[in-house]
Amino acid sequence: MQNQAKRPFVRPLTAMLALTLAGGLFSAQAVSAAAPPAAPAAQPSAVAPVPAPAMPKAAPVAPAAAPAVGPAPTPAPGPVAVPAGDPNEAIRKAIAERIAGKGEVVLKSTGVTPAANTAKRPAPKKHTVHWAYEGEGGPHNWGKISKQYLACANGKNQSPIAIEADSQLKLDLPAIEFDYRDSRFSIVDNGHTVEVKYLEGGAMTILGQRYELVQFHFHRPAEEVVNGKRYDMVAHLVHKNSKGQLAVVAVLLTLGEENRFIQTLWNHMPIEKKKPIEPPTAKIDLAKFLPANKAYFHYMGSLTTPPCTEGVAWYVMQAPVEVSAGQVEVFSKMYANNARPTQRTNGRLVKASRAPADGGVASAPAPAMTAMPRIPRAGGQ
Ligand SMILES: [Zn+2]
Repeated sequence: MQNQAKRPFVRPLTAMLALTLAGGLFSAQAVSAAAPPAAPAAQPSAVAPVPAPAMPKAAPVAPAAAPAVGPAPTPAPGPVAVPAGDPNEAIRKAIAERIAGKGEVVLKSTGVTPAANTAKRPAPKKHTVHWAYEGEGGPHNWGKISKQYLACANGKNQSPIAIEADSQLKLDLPAIEFDYRDSRFSIVDNGHTVEVKYLEGGAMTILGQRYELVQFHFHRPAEEVVNGKRYDMVAHLVHKNSKGQLAVVAVLLTLGEENRFIQTLWNHMPIEKKKPIEPPTAKIDLAKFLPANKAYFHYMGSLTTPPCTEGVAWYVMQAPVEVSAGQVEVFSKMYANNARPTQRTNGRLVKASRAPADGGVASAPAPAMTAMPRIPRAGGQ
């Protein structure tokens, strides 16, 4: 693609060089259009194959100003007319710059027909497709957008997945130690989701491995499907250890009471994309956002957005937390659907806490859980 993009510049340039050698003013004007203030007239689409004989009189005028749209004339055999000043120096300079890849590309008066020119002219950046959740840049095409996104198409351990009861290894899993506390935060609409950074840091530790909190963000609906159910939203708490390995904690959100933690964030929701807001005094505490029952599902997967990097350890909290319909509505006004479809599990195993992990509610069912019977308790009961 890049080769094709460069080729069109070469030929007109060659033509101009030839004309320059012929001493034609024709080419002198073509090149000088890139330098003087008259250049703004040189829109890429304004192809002006001005008949060569008309050119000699038009010395100070940029060729682009001539709205000729006729058939392309063959370049004139060098009409002899010498403009004021020393055009040759300007020509040499402009051509040198162009060869070096600098300078504006002004392809006027080179005898290229409008049709041919249109066909050859590159459309820089026009074909750049940005990843998204629908349309040309949608999840089915992520792997084609960039070589760096190949894992999105070819990866064998992609996320999210549907976590089915019959695929779970129900075990006594080690507790995740969460080290979150009250913190100021920054919040940004990054163009794909609402992302929050904890200004005072946070971390999770599992099996002695400490992962620092990098950021957390939201999806609507939830990307994970658990025992056939897709929740209304999910928060992904992204952590990284000192080796650069990622661990993501997913907190599922289900419709219910208003969530104070969410409300604090939403109260500071940015209205402009990519402009982070740092509320001067507001604080949040992720520890209070987590469900009381810390039982989780654990599997190995990937980032759910390009570049879909694998090797991500997922910890999906089994118990959802509540969020009000109004709060979901606020998010959906920005992102009605920013969930990647579930990916093939390819036989991956999913571990499941068979009872609330340490730090959760003991054997008695937690009040919050009884109010939300949506997730069957792993291991019966
Ligand atoms: Zn996510």
